[in-house]
Amino acid sequence: MRGRALLPLALLAAAAPVPEPPRLTFPLACALGKDCAIQSYQDDDPGPGVRDYRCGGRTYAGHGGTDIRLTSMAQQRRGVNVLAAAPGVVRGIRDGEPEMSMRRRPAGDIAGKECGNGVVIAHPGGWQTQYCHMARGSIAVRPGQAVATGAVLGRVGLSGDTEFPHLHLSVRHDGDTVDPFAWGAAAGQCRGGRSLWANTPAYAEGHVLVAGFAAGPVTMDAVQEEGAGQVPPPRRDTPLVAFAQAIGLQGGDAQRMVLRAPDGQVLADNRAPPLDRDKAQVILFAGKKAPAGGWPAGTYRSEYQVIRSGRVAIERRDAITL
Ligand SMILES: [Zn+2]
Repeated sequence: MRGRALLPLALLAAAAPVPEPPRLTFPLACALGKDCAIQSYQDDDPGPGVRDYRCGGRTYAGHGGTDIRLTSMAQQRRGVNVLAAAPGVVRGIRDGEPEMSMRRRPAGDIAGKECGNGVVIAHPGGWQTQYCHMARGSIAVRPGQAVATGAVLGRVGLSGDTEFPHLHLSVRHDGDTVDPFAWGAAAGQCRGGRSLWANTPAYAEGHVLVAGFAAGPVTMDAVQEEGAGQVPPPRRDTPLVAFAQAIGLQGGDAQRMVLRAPDGQVLADNRAPPLDRDKAQVILFAGKKAPAGGWPAGTYRSEYQVIRSGRVAIERRDAITL
């Protein structure tokens, strides 16, 4: 979703007295960094540039909120609740929008309904939070209803302008979009302002969303649809493939996946060339066919790394016992 640029601090200061903003709690019933991750922060660059609140590139042009992504559709189907981030009164809802990846919809199909199924909560002092892309038929509140912090609003879905299951959270003050990680930062400034979070989620340079082992190459679509535990698992007589799907990679990032035998010997070492541009998501494999007689019993290990500016920015290790 696109939002208006941050209001200059001078204008905020002129609207005295500035009411205390709500303290926000995490709006999803998931463990951040484990079974959900921040896919995109708000774009705090008022011009054509793209910049998150830490001066990084983990956003896209005009993005007016924070996107928190589930690891897969399988997790979405199990159901993950969307929670009120602060106490308030439900100002509006939308439900009934279909759940479908944008890639499968005709252009213009969701014009004016980019949020999909969603909820807007009004908080004291002219503040609002908006929750987007929820599951059809899941909205559990009605307009005018008072909600407490953590109240269940519905479930994460795939409605509106989205290609993967996530919650888009917008925070607004007097109608202007506010970055909850950097309230009051001067326009165009990053690393400024103040967090509205009661517990500020740690900034992640990137994240491994799904990783594991399979009996053959797996596609991004398959991993996203089924999750790591659902792709065909390797056996002693099948190929052994280690894979990792990562988000938030930057142009210039180099990736490496190493697969090791129980004795530590390298079975496969896949080094991807540096990315030519930022990538919202990537998938990398390393694998090998089973030797004659099958894989020896034991624990096989994978090491996935993203090398950024000469250092390890993202790392993930997994193991499987055959
Ligand atoms: Zn968004």
